[in-house]
Amino acid sequence: MDQYFYSTRDSSRKADLATALFKSLAPDGGLYMPASLPDLGADFWATSHELSFPQLAAALCKAVLGTLIPDQVIDRVCQEAFDFEVPLVELDPDVYALELFHGPSLAFKDFGARFMARLMSWLLDSGQMAANNVDVLVATSGDTGGAVAMGFLGTPNIRVTILFPEGRVSALQQAQLTALGQNIRAIAVKGTFDDCQRLVKQAFADTALNQQYQLTSANSINLFRLLPQGFYYAWAYSRLKDRLKNGRLVVSVPSGNFGNICSGMIMQRLGCPITHFVAGTNANDVVPRFLKSGQYEPLKTIPTISNAMDVGAPSNWERIAHLYHQDHSKIKKQLSGYAFSDEVTTLAIEQIFGLRHYALEPHAAIGYLALKTYLKSNLLATGVFLGTAHPAKFLDVMPEHVAAAVQIPDRLSALANRAQEFATIDADYEAFVNVFSH
Ligand SMILES: *Cc1c(COP(=O)(O)O)cnc(C)c1O
Repeated sequence: MDQYFYSTRDSSRKADLATALFKSLAPDGGLYMPASLPDLGADFWATSHELSFPQLAAALCKAVLGTLIPDQVIDRVCQEAFDFEVPLVELDPDVYALELFHGPSLAFKDFGARFMARLMSWLLDSGQMAANNVDVLVATSGDTGGAVAMGFLGTPNIRVTILFPEGRVSALQQAQLTALGQNIRAIAVKGTFDDCQRLVKQAFADTALNQQYQLTSANSINLFRLLPQGFYYAWAYSRLKDRLKNGRLVVSVPSGNFGNICSGMIMQRLGCPITHFVAGTNANDVVPRFLKSGQYEPLKTIPTISNAMDVGAPSNWERIAHLYHQDHSKIKKQLSGYAFSDEVTTLAIEQIFGLRHYALEPHAAIGYLALKTYLKSNLLATGVFLGTAHPAKFLDVMPEHVAAAVQIPDRLSALANRAQEFATIDADYEAFVNVFSH
């Protein structure tokens, strides 16, 4: 197979599609990048409004992966993976929410997980892998696990095992992990998220286990979760391009591991006319501080109400630094960053609800705040912030009167009533292997 991918740490270290897809990390610890990110040209972008979401996604996907995957496979994968609405809602004049939470797990991670699952399944089916079956193994503190589980639900040849800390995920999150059945297994670990992660790491390092099973991690550093997230940036541009203020589009992204915003930067390389990126963070403000000082200093994670962004050392920063050749001034030209406390975030949720009767959960609220902060000194642009999760997923950290107004989507409440099935183990590796091998 074509050695089409390379490591961010050493461009001479190449990998083929199967390797980049099934092994998230390069052997030198770097992250994979595609050999080519071709500019699709002004004509493509000028006519992009004629395409549906799956058509636009397929065209972009072919530009990057077209030499490795047959066109009709890309068409089918995009049709199946992106079969839900991606609405833009105008909140303030020239300020839009891009709602990325209408997929099965009600969060933007559905885009990456659903695309990746179908690509893996095709690769296994087409005989390009030595293995016939693959085991996806993930540790979750709550949210990511749900997207992976639902993304892979019912996918042939792939089994998913999810480890979560017993009693430390919300009732709804637990239902998303344990009530799906089919090819999804959940294991409750008597311990913390760190214990779950330790067990997963140990499993990947266990030679005997890896000889018996084809293990893969599907985590957020995987290039094939990032690529499909880029498609909705292109979608937002295609829907707004004829009414952009001053022809300028600014996209604001509530960020934790910085995978989502990196997806937008990759899309910009394909020629998508995004003028500027804004990163909103909670108290975990490594990147806003880096933009100010030029010093990149990862810190210990601080817990906040926007807990899917509680990341002290963003795992995708390496890819962004690589895209901009480690050049602080180049990054600053393209990216602004602002951090917000829980208090300010909560206040913004109350204000927007009061003014617009629109319920934001804390992650999207940070995206909104960051966008408004940037636009204050950059008036002539249209802004889009990414609504990364449905408010129904974060009711317990929202002001009560706002939470009370949120309609719980049917499929979420249905799941909450389904029977749950999971094993419970001590935070012990042998106990894990025992359950895993059955
Ligand atoms: C994962 C997640 C984020 C952070 O995305 P990154 O790609 O890690 O920056 C933001 N909001 C929600 C709701 C998430 O689940």
